[in-house]
Amino acid sequence: MSAPAESLEYEIPATIPCSDPATGEHLGEVPALTPEQVSERIARARVAQESWRHTPFRERRKVLRHLLDMLLEHADALCEEICRDAGKTLDNAMLGEIWPIAEKLRWTIAHGEQHLRSETVSSGLLQHKRAKVEYHPLGVVGVITPWNFPLQNILGPTIPALFAGNAVIIKVSEWTSWSAEPFQRFLDRCLADCGYSPDLIQIITGYGDTGAALVSGGVDKIVFTGSMRNGKRVLEQSAKTLTPVILELGGKDPMIVCDDADLDQAAHAAVSAAFIASGQMCLAAERVLVFDAVYDAFVAKVQDITLRLRQDAPLAGKLVDVGAMTMPAQVEIVEQLVQDALAKGASLKAGGKRTKRKPSKHFFEPTILADVTDEMRIMNEETFGPVMAITRVHDEDEAVRVANASEYGLSSSVFSKDPVRARRIADQIVAGSTCINDWALMYMVQDLPFGGVKGSGFGRLNGREGLRACTNVKAVIEDRLPLHRAIKLFPGRRYDYDVTREGVRLLYAKGAGKKFEALVELGKALRKRALS
Ligand code: NAD
Repeated sequence: MSAPAESLEYEIPATIPCSDPATGEHLGEVPALTPEQVSERIARARVAQESWRHTPFRERRKVLRHLLDMLLEHADALCEEICRDAGKTLDNAMLGEIWPIAEKLRWTIAHGEQHLRSETVSSGLLQHKRAKVEYHPLGVVGVITPWNFPLQNILGPTIPALFAGNAVIIKVSEWTSWSAEPFQRFLDRCLADCGYSPDLIQIITGYGDTGAALVSGGVDKIVFTGSMRNGKRVLEQSAKTLTPVILELGGKDPMIVCDDADLDQAAHAAVSAAFIASGQMCLAAERVLVFDAVYDAFVAKVQDITLRLRQDAPLAGKLVDVGAMTMPAQVEIVEQLVQDALAKGASLKAGGKRTKRKPSKHFFEPTILADVTDEMRIMNEETFGPVMAITRVHDEDEAVRVANASEYGLSSSVFSKDPVRARRIADQIVAGSTCINDWALMYMVQDLPFGGVKGSGFGRLNGREGLRACTNVKAVIEDRLPLHRAIKLFPGRRYDYDVTREGVRLLYAKGAGKKFEALVELGKALRKRALS
């Protein structure tokens, strides 16, 4: 199953077969929507948005509060759906999906209005006017998601878009489409309980062409989360209709461990950053850069933790640290990158292969590669799997140089007990975010914008920036006083040009002498104009 948007010759299947990646069990089929069906969904969303856009913030908060209550009430069932569809552990579903969604809901309920309320700003020279920045809904926001966090990827962009007064259509990944139906039911119930149309939030299923139909279908903005390759396609497609896009693409995040780092703290962060969700996270620390002096001790520590990890099917009732990978092609990529690194001299400290004895072929052992160097593919290509690649660096300059030697720039982390040094290093890393003495935590601080630079995309989700990205930021000028004096620029008069020139000089010339000179000239020009 590959994204059929690539070829016009390809006959697009009408359904998507879904299976549990951890057990291989066939779950059923879901429809793959045609472009016509996507258009029809957009039309329905537009109708639903017409009344929603006029709702007061109080009403929108009520809906989000109900969603939060329902999320807490149904968290266990939702986690089970997530795990069955993505193969991840229940712990990760709760920690990495339910919790950030709950926090985003809390933050939006508490602070959303303050960031979307219209603001009066200085009207500069125009003191008789009032100037405002207003945040108007866009209309229908299209969201296209990958498979790694099935619920969080849906609700992360949906919460701000909805709160900003938009309807939302989410095209979920073909690899985690089985959960679309229960998630839609969950959202329908929330909206119905609050008296709103289910068309306000619609989850649709399909392959790449369904996503492409959403991009070109007349939505007012696209939030695309996925690979760089498809991000470029979305950008090309959106250029045809000038549909604005936010691109949240891949990453190759560096984690720098300095010689004065707390090694326990750094080692545990590195293990989480490599193996949570089987490493299928855009924020995974894909390159761990460790200073010479602590290199061996660090490798020994991460090896010790990793060799104790338990891997199995997450819903079989056992205690599991690392689950399955979601997409078969990704397992192959991981396998190739590991083999390439080993062939080029990396040393294997844990794992290194698929786990054949597990119920499906989607298990790759939690793997540690040490002595990874520039010429290995794993230093440059996104792994998106349970592999920690460790590289030795000698000093700060080398750490920064290696950290920035990537086409991606999503996030980064630095471990050092010296805050000045940590900041010095952090400030030189070209990325959308840096965590000092931690990893990925910026995602839990909803006041912080989230997004990347370079090949990791552009635009921001989360925070004030993410909320406002779901709006038309509109500039409005209105009367402060009811003066109603016409500004008569036409028909032009002689000496208009001189009057304007001296007026500009009077306003912006430096020093009293020059201003006085301009004032005298302005008087002359005005007089000439009056007499002409
Ligand atoms: P992908 O690009 O293969 O697919 C993402 C989505 O795009 C899917 O729903 C797919 O059907 C759709 N799609 C494919 N072709 C399309 C087209 N031409 N037009 C419109 N939509 C199209 O990505 P994936 O394999 O599902 O996810 C893994 C990637 O996502 C990794 O690179 C990962 O780093 C990235 N990711 C980034 C973030 C972030 O926030 N930056 C978060 C999660 C994942």
